[in-house]
Amino acid sequence: MKKYDVVIVGGGPAGITAAIYTARRELKTLVITKEPGGQVVKTPDIENYPGFDLIAGVLLAKKFIDQAKKFGAEIIHDEVIDIDEKKEKLIVKTTRDEFYPSALILAFGKVPRKLHISGEKEFAGRGVSYCGTCDAPFFKNKTVVVTGGGNSAFDTALLLARVAKKVYIIHRRDEFRAENILVDKAKKNPRIEFILNAKIKEIKGDTVVKSVEIEIKNKKREIETDGIFIEIGYLVDGGLIKNFVKMDLQNQIIVDRDHSTSRPGVFAAGDLTNSFYKQIVISAGEGAIAGLSAAKFVDEKK
Ligand SMILES: Cc1cc2nc3c(=O)[nH]c(=O)nc-3n(C[C@H](O)[C@H](O)[C@H](O)COP(=O)(O)OP(=O)(O)OC[C@H]3O[C@@H](n4cnc5c(N)ncnc54)[C@H](O)[C@@H]3O)c2cc1C
Repeated sequence: MKKYDVVIVGGGPAGITAAIYTARRELKTLVITKEPGGQVVKTPDIENYPGFDLIAGVLLAKKFIDQAKKFGAEIIHDEVIDIDEKKEKLIVKTTRDEFYPSALILAFGKVPRKLHISGEKEFAGRGVSYCGTCDAPFFKNKTVVVTGGGNSAFDTALLLARVAKKVYIIHRRDEFRAENILVDKAKKNPRIEFILNAKIKEIKGDTVVKSVEIEIKNKKREIETDGIFIEIGYLVDGGLIKNFVKMDLQNQIIVDRDHSTSRPGVFAAGDLTNSFYKQIVISAGEGAIAGLSAAKFVDEKK
């Protein structure tokens, strides 16, 4: 039996900050995460985390992880595949193991939203990507499409423009959710071209992506490209926690002000909660609250 005071599912800013707080309270803390650092490692330049004018995501993530480890938190690289409660005991199952925490913190973030069009699944990893930082270097001197109108899409387009010869931003509206500073940078970049009010209908190719078919005002057009980055937002993958804790209509976990969920001993923090904004500093703040609340719960139980 692997018992812990606190198990945290997800090692992004929310989960790691929660671990810093619980481990500093000398609680036996385990973080289980698929990718250490979370989405932060996918962000090349971060300009809005206090204390750093500009920091690479990979470096900030490393600092988070090192700090949690310094206080004694264990961090393992695995996927949680089931969460349950039997006879008032929480059970967390991973692909390799089973853990029994006194308190559980859910901080597993969101997953990229899909376009659900022909060619998307077939060419995944062969020109279709959901991660600019991971895959941009493969597009040196190539042509590439980015679809989306938020910060992720603009971050990815700007990153790609450093290596690719041509970047199309294809967006279904003519206005963007992204911050003006990013939109202005993209507009000034000679390698970036905007195609607006356009729907992507199909991704075509042979063994790899060769083109995308778009539709503008009912007229079809084909854009030749070596790849497409789909950056249209993120969703909570609710499968793991369905019927376990209460969620809203977007599958986000409903939390109280102390970040407790509908189930005693289970807390949630970060992008997967029903709070308004999704940022690193916000996830870290929510992680701190969840960590402190979980510590209080464990202390009272003891
Ligand atoms: C391209 C991009 C650029 C961004 N730029 C900025 C920026 O400049 N500034 C800013 O403040 N924010 C930015 N953000 C948003 C910010 O990264 C997120 O708000 C933040 O990372 C959310 O933290 P989190 O800990 O809630 O979740 P995440 O960072 O998503 O971490 C969740 C973790 O849980 C793990 N996980 C998921 N499912 C499981 C499972 N079943 N078992 C185990 N582990 C699991 C994941 O692997 C991941 O490590 C950006 C996001 C993206 C995608």
